[in-house]
Amino acid sequence: MSLRINETRFLKNLAELAQIGATAAGGVNRPAFSEADLTARRWFANRATQAGLYLSVDGAGNQTAEWRPGEIDRPKILVGSHLDTVPNGGRFDGALGVLAALEAVQTIQESGIALPYNLEVVNFTDEEGTMLGLFGSQAFAGSLTAQKLQQPRGGRQQLLEGMRRLGISESGSLTCQRNPEDYAAFVELHIEQGTRLEKANVDIGVVTGIVGIRSFWLTFKGEAAHAGTRPMADRRDAFWGASDFMQAARRLVQGRFYPGVVNCGRIALEPGGFNIVPAAAKIALEFRHGTETQLDQLEASLLTLAQQAAQAHQLEVDVQPLDLVRAAPAAENVMLAIESAADELDLSHTRLLSFAGHDTQAISPFIPAAMLFVPSVDGVSHNPKELTKTHDCINGANVILQTLLRLSE
Ligand SMILES: [Zn+2]
Repeated sequence: MSLRINETRFLKNLAELAQIGATAAGGVNRPAFSEADLTARRWFANRATQAGLYLSVDGAGNQTAEWRPGEIDRPKILVGSHLDTVPNGGRFDGALGVLAALEAVQTIQESGIALPYNLEVVNFTDEEGTMLGLFGSQAFAGSLTAQKLQQPRGGRQQLLEGMRRLGISESGSLTCQRNPEDYAAFVELHIEQGTRLEKANVDIGVVTGIVGIRSFWLTFKGEAAHAGTRPMADRRDAFWGASDFMQAARRLVQGRFYPGVVNCGRIALEPGGFNIVPAAAKIALEFRHGTETQLDQLEASLLTLAQQAAQAHQLEVDVQPLDLVRAAPAAENVMLAIESAADELDLSHTRLLSFAGHDTQAISPFIPAAMLFVPSVDGVSHNPKELTKTHDCINGANVILQTLLRLSE
C-alpha cells in the first residue's frame, strides 16, 4: 500500500485556512463561535463538498464530511480534530488534524480502493473551551450535560449568543449523541505542543492516553501564635506542614510516579501577618496521571504524605476533593494501526502520554480511539509562533492515511 497524500493540495489548504483569522504576528485568532470560526466552517464545508463528501452539521455544530462510496449504513471510521483556536493562537493546533483527515480521505477516494467502512472527517466545535471545552466532542459522545451548559467558563450569556450565531440550540446539543455502533474507530492527528519528540528526534508520537486530573483543597491546621515570643520548638506552624508536604510530594512523584505530575498553584495562610505564626495553610493541589489506577495510587500516597507532614508538626489536615477529569486511555488496536502505518512510512515512533486535553479524550470512552503527535518546534503552542515543520505535517497526514487503510483491513 504505497498510497501517499497529495502534498501540494494539502499544503495549499493549510496555507489558505491559516488566512482565516490571520494575525499580524503570523498566528491565527479564531475562537469558537467568532466570525472567523464561522468563516472557517464555511471554507471547510466548501472544500468537503467540492471533494464529493457528504457534509452534515449536528445539533452541537460539529461538521462531518463523509466518504460514502457504497451503502449509507456501513460502519464508519471517524477522523479529524478542531478548527477553532485559542485567542491569538497558532496555525497548527487543531487545523492540522482536520486538514490531514480531509486530505487522507480524498486521497483514498481518488485511489479507487474499496474499503469495508465509510470514512467520516470531523471538525468538533469549541475544543479549546472559548465557551466550554470539548463542547462538540462531548455532545458527540453524549457526555455533555444540561448542568455543564448552565455554567460554561466563557459565560452563560456568551454561550447562548454564540450558539445562536452558529444556528444551534441547547436542546439540539444535548440530543445529538451518535450511536457508537455506527463507528469502528476514531483517530486524531495533533501537534505535540511539547518538546519530547523534538528532544528525542522522533517523527511520530503514539499517544497512549490523555491524563486524568484530580484536584483538592488541603488545609493544614495549627495554632496562631506570637511570631516573636513563641519558641520555635513549641510552634504548631501550619505552613511548615504544607511546605514539608509539597517537598515530599515532589520527591514521591518524581521517584515513584513518573511521568505523573503534581502541582500546588495557590496557597493561603491565615490569619496572615508578618508577626503571626500561621494557624491555617490552605493549598490548591492538582495531580495528573495516565490511568485511573495510577491516579488512585497517587492520590492515596499523597494523602498519606499529607497526614505524615501534619503529624510531624502537630497539625491536623482537612481534605476537600474538587473536580476530576477521568483518564482517557487509548485503544490498543488503533495505536497498533498507527505504529504499523509509521513503520510502512519508515518513520520513527514512540509511545507517550498526552498531558493536554484533546477531543480524543471525550471520544475514547465512546468508540475505540487513539491519537498521534507530530513535533512542535521548541514546544511552542497557543502562541502565534507555534510551528510544525512542513515535512512533519506531511508525515502526520501520511500516517493518518495509512492508519485509515490499516483500520479498514
Ligand atoms: Zn488542539
